[in-house]
Amino acid sequence: MSDAYQQSVIEQAEAYAEKVIRPQAGQFDRQESLPREIIDGLASRGLLGAPLPVQYGGLGLDPLFYGKLTEIIGKACCSTRSLLTVHTSLVGETLAKLGTPAQRERFLPDLVKGSRIACFALSEPKVGTDATSVKTRFEKQGDVYVLNGRKKWISFAGIADLYLVIAADGDTVSAFLVERTAPGLSVKPMSGLLGNRAAHLAEVFFDNVEVPAENVLGRMGTGFSFVANTALFYGRYSIAWAGVAIGQAALEEMVGYACEREQFGQKIGEFQLVKGMIADAVTQIHAARALCERSGRLRMAGDDDAVMEVNMAKYFCSKMALQVAANAVQVFGGNGCWNEYPVERLFRESKILEVIEGTSQVQQVMIANHGMRRYRRHKVV
Ligand SMILES: Cc1cc2nc3c(=O)[nH]c(=O)nc-3n(C[C@H](O)[C@H](O)[C@H](O)COP(=O)(O)OP(=O)(O)OC[C@H]3O[C@@H](n4cnc5c(N)ncnc54)[C@H](O)[C@@H]3O)c2cc1C
Repeated sequence: MSDAYQQSVIEQAEAYAEKVIRPQAGQFDRQESLPREIIDGLASRGLLGAPLPVQYGGLGLDPLFYGKLTEIIGKACCSTRSLLTVHTSLVGETLAKLGTPAQRERFLPDLVKGSRIACFALSEPKVGTDATSVKTRFEKQGDVYVLNGRKKWISFAGIADLYLVIAADGDTVSAFLVERTAPGLSVKPMSGLLGNRAAHLAEVFFDNVEVPAENVLGRMGTGFSFVANTALFYGRYSIAWAGVAIGQAALEEMVGYACEREQFGQKIGEFQLVKGMIADAVTQIHAARALCERSGRLRMAGDDDAVMEVNMAKYFCSKMALQVAANAVQVFGGNGCWNEYPVERLFRESKILEVIEGTSQVQQVMIANHGMRRYRRHKVV
């Protein structure tokens, strides 16, 4: 795929995001729902399948251009970007990589068209960070697997048609593609969230849900080690760019306000302490974007370091987004604490990034272990 073609996709997406999505983002947040016409708008532009192979209808964007797309959509609306993270990255990219030819043929074209919405169901009421100990059970009964249990916090589960579910049988953890129409599957919408309010979060209940053997994703027993970890790799890459998106949106709001608002007879942007917040934001965002681009290039090169570099990008960018959004609120003063201005929402959304796809603490543990292996001197005398 030529760079010129990929760039044209980005430009068209940006026009749509700025004209249609961004002006409505506050409303989506308040109504806690992403309207179907936005999902259709993304699908009709091919964006729901942006990084997916052309043979299934995808646009075949490389990770760098897909990252840029994630930033553009995320800058306009976090919940809309979350659809790309979940539907396109966590499920779509994972299916494209690990699915059998029959599974890819059966599901990917519908995911690209948006005629099926997909979600990723790992977390449970009592299982979050310690994801290998999922309590949702599967049992082989004849030709089918029977699922029982409960998932929680599942983005887009409220409207999804396809659920990528991680379940266990004793120590064996496996991944299943479960269709919404399967008898025994039910959902209960969740509301009142800090952010991602329009992302149709729901709890999902499995009551003797039968899943045909051809819907097992990856080999039996590799549901966490291989499938969930692959999905989380794609998800973390997406969240890293989501951090850049929030930082950039908060910066633009902050600068606009600082150039307009007057106190003590001058624009507040002329005060050096306000300039300090702007300088920090610009620098941090540039550093964050560079880290995302580096991890994207490593992904494209198939470099083993890509996994750890994506963890670092996710950790750094989510932390950066929270700092920049908090400073944007500060620059707005009282107006920053009011939902008539977008920085209030950006601040709430930024905190979510430190929790999802592996918390910041978990990223720190993984990065520290990596650092202690790689940067240890052989001998200290
Ligand atoms: C808006 C939103 C959307 C979400 N979407 C999805 C989704 O689509 N699919 C899905 O499966 N899940 C989803 N989640 C769930 C999310 O992935 C979990 O909330 C996250 O993994 C953390 O798990 P937990 O909430 O159980 O926290 P816990 O695991 O209970 O962690 C609580 C605290 O303890 C810390 N902690 C835990 N273990 C360690 C450790 N070993 N070392 C240091 N600190 C530790 C954590 O960092 C955290 O600060 C979503 C959550 C939110 C808020």
